[in-house]
Amino acid sequence: MIRLVLLGGPGSGKGTQADVLKKKYALVKLSTGDLLRQEIAKNSELGKQAKSFMNKGELVSDAIMIGILEHITADFEAKGQGYILDGFPRTVPQAEALLSMLGKQGVTLSTALLIDVPEEELVRRLSSRWTCVRCSATVGYPDGKPEGAVCAQCGGELYQREDDKRETILNRMSVYKKNTEPLIAYFREKKMLERVDGFGTFEEISGRILDLFAKKNIR
Ligand code: ADP
Ligand code: ZN
Repeated sequence: MIRLVLLGGPGSGKGTQADVLKKKYALVKLSTGDLLRQEIAKNSELGKQAKSFMNKGELVSDAIMIGILEHITADFEAKGQGYILDGFPRTVPQAEALLSMLGKQGVTLSTALLIDVPEEELVRRLSSRWTCVRCSATVGYPDGKPEGAVCAQCGGELYQREDDKRETILNRMSVYKKNTEPLIAYFREKKMLERVDGFGTFEEISGRILDLFAKKNIR
């Protein structure tokens, strides 16, 4: 059973690449960002707590996130369902909690895959990113969104996420560097890290990831 963590800055394309792996290996993808946005849309207690942090580009507390993940990973384990975590862990305490919950479940992480994209490229991508209201697919329009453009996956309406506006992007980048980038060294020291170059077209990057999985015999 595959248990995968995807690492990469905001806008690194990890959510989209997760969809490729999901199809290929029959995994489920757990995007913590999508999960929190759904809670906000439902106006649930969790959504209310998360909203102000998310709109500023700050992180939701470790305690909340770890509690959610504990339930969900246990549930996947019970079903024998392989999974991809997109957006978790995002801090070293979250990574420690993840490895300890897997330990308690008697299993190990298959790998932590880093999609490595230079910072300038991340900022450029995020500022042109549009998201589908219905299926969360994203699309980049560097020259502005053409009038009437809709989601290529499902025909849903496209919107620009509150946290994809310029000042928030810069804040998210600094939150990423401070809290999440240390996870690269963390997983590298545990010999759990794999890295692919995240520069190039979507197909080039997914090609690199699938080659890596074949080579490392991850399946
Ligand atoms: P990105 O495009 O930056 O990867 P996500 O959709 O993964 O964005 O997450 C959006 C926001 O949701 C984050 O900026 C943060 O506020 C919150 N969030 C998502 N996952 C986590 C997590 N594991 N820990 C804390 N906050 C999180
Ligand atoms: Zn869609």
